[in-house]
Amino acid sequence: MTLTTLDHDRAAAGMVYVYPVVSRRAGGVSVGINLNSNNACNWRCIYCQVPDLQRGGPPPIDLARLEDELRRMLDAIVHGDFLAREVPEAMRRLNDVALSGNGEPTSAPEFPAVVELIGRVLADFALLGRVKLVLISNGSLAGKPRVQAGIRAMADLGGEVWFKFDRATRAGLRLVNDSESDPEGHYQRLKSVAALCPTWVQTCWFALDGQPPTETEVAAWLALLARAVAEQVPLRGVLLYGLARPSLQAEAPRLAALPEAWLRALAARVEALGLAAKVSA
Ligand code: SF4
Repeated sequence: MTLTTLDHDRAAAGMVYVYPVVSRRAGGVSVGINLNSNNACNWRCIYCQVPDLQRGGPPPIDLARLEDELRRMLDAIVHGDFLAREVPEAMRRLNDVALSGNGEPTSAPEFPAVVELIGRVLADFALLGRVKLVLISNGSLAGKPRVQAGIRAMADLGGEVWFKFDRATRAGLRLVNDSESDPEGHYQRLKSVAALCPTWVQTCWFALDGQPPTETEVAAWLALLARAVAEQVPLRGVLLYGLARPSLQAEAPRLAALPEAWLRALAARVEALGLAAKVSA
């Protein structure tokens, strides 16, 4: 994704949770909601772009503040001159509201309440069904009833989930996500999320120490997708990412972007399974 975070505006607005992003790929503005204001995540992906990333979850969410920030941001976009002031002419439209931030959003105990709040605010601005609502998640907590309740509420609002599945081997998940998740458990979580809400698989590919991902890793990941197709998991498709922005983790010097042709060739293999594939190099 080519994103330009309007950080100066966020700082000027004094916002903790809400931030606007111009997405060239989407051709519009995304309103991001960051629940992990302390840059804490339960995973530590080696390509992660969060500065000073630490392990953990977010501090308690101030729901009243979040609601006030979201209302102010949407008011500036829908009724104010935000787009004219801040956004190139071709991209002056609100594309989506995304629960995505500097850590895993579903690790906030308030996650279901946050979804409910977003739905209420979008309805007040007559935006429900008119802008996309997206949850960008590593999926690791999707087995929890409260997370499932929030994801079900996302579906009721017409939202979708982007579920991170970077590698399909235990070694790959450990290497790329610094996670002890096992692939089978993660697959079962993917299935349960896809049953609750429209879901895209989201995967980041890059070269490590000068080498592209091994065919063993790629084949295991494709086999997982093939299994999802065979088991009729209702996936929307697969989002393939390269390294659009540099990692801010210690491994950053070891990572390099793959040629776009590599991602496109992989997308063709995904499509051959009968799944849609979108590439963001
Ligand atoms: S799950 Fe997302 S926020 Fe967490 S470490 Fe990975 S890329 Fe960073």
